[in-house]
Amino acid sequence: MQDFAYFAPRALDEAVALLGADDAGVLAGGTDLIVQMREGVRRPARVVDIKKIAGLDDFGFDARGGLVLGALVTTRQVETSPVVRRHYASLARAATDFASIQVRHRATVVGNVCRASPSADTLPPLIADGARLRIHGPAGTRRTPLEGFCTGPGRTALARGELVTHIEVPAPAPHTGKVYIKHGRRAQMELATVGVAAHATLDADGRLADVAIVLAAVAPTPLRAHAAEALLRGRLPDAQALAAAAEQAGDEARPIGDVRASAAYRRDMVRVLTARALQQAIREAQS
Ligand SMILES: Cc1cc2nc3c(=O)[nH]c(=O)nc-3n(C[C@H](O)[C@H](O)[C@H](O)COP(=O)(O)OP(=O)(O)OC[C@H]3O[C@@H](n4cnc5c(N)ncnc54)[C@H](O)[C@@H]3O)c2cc1C
Repeated sequence: MQDFAYFAPRALDEAVALLGADDAGVLAGGTDLIVQMREGVRRPARVVDIKKIAGLDDFGFDARGGLVLGALVTTRQVETSPVVRRHYASLARAATDFASIQVRHRATVVGNVCRASPSADTLPPLIADGARLRIHGPAGTRRTPLEGFCTGPGRTALARGELVTHIEVPAPAPHTGKVYIKHGRRAQMELATVGVAAHATLDADGRLADVAIVLAAVAPTPLRAHAAEALLRGRLPDAQALAAAAEQAGDEARPIGDVRASAAYRRDMVRVLTARALQQAIREAQS
């Protein structure tokens, strides 16, 4: 591994100043960054460890404001949180079907988001739930929707000197179901071949008042299947409507073939898993 200078600031603005250099990298759990540095994929001259910064371990929920996850909250904390399991079931599922228990104890949710991998498991449920990012940088604090934050594999909309301090996820509306299905060659220690998050809210007549479908590993960034959602919004979720939406989601996917699966297989699985995720989310919303 190439030599680097290590910094562990205690204040956010100190971190921002250190990150102003163009060859600086944020270190959270290190489960991506250290691997990439060992492989020579990334060679930051300056590593800024954020673990000593107060407030980044925030982890809270209230029924009106929703969920707040600080940049140091790990996937293991999310997986084992009764509140997340109850109100953000798809995020809890993504954090559970993730790496190994050792990795989950170190890997942060914000790190997973900022790594911007096309197969990242926490991105689809968070986008489907309407998450926003709180970002701190040289110009102060700003908030931005998570949807659109990933601009390509490993690339984000963060400007130089900025870091993500928190993820904010709105409180769930009544009669909402949330599902994430990860499909891979094995159950554990596997990146998603295809991932599908579905978020469905029913109105008093049983129609779909709101719906979100977000796909992983079938495009350079997480892909929101907007046209498929449009086929469902305002409609009764009958078998015909769900089948049409699943078909449309398959059309919207932009998969590639690689060592894990062919493009055609991924597209087929988007159809199968979108139908399944929607059915499960609607069942939950009805219960
Ligand atoms: C064995 C193994 C299995 C894995 N399995 C899975 C899996 O099943 N599913 C999956 O999705 N991922 C998986 N991963 C990837 C990895 O664990 C996750 O992406 C992890 O959540 C990254 O979080 P971290 O805290 O370790 O981030 P780090 O490695 O510290 O950082 C990751 C990236 O985000 C940046 N970053 C971190 N925090 C911030 C911040 N607050 N602001 C701005 N930038 C920031 C870093 O600079 C770096 O570029 C696996 C990794 C390993 C090693």
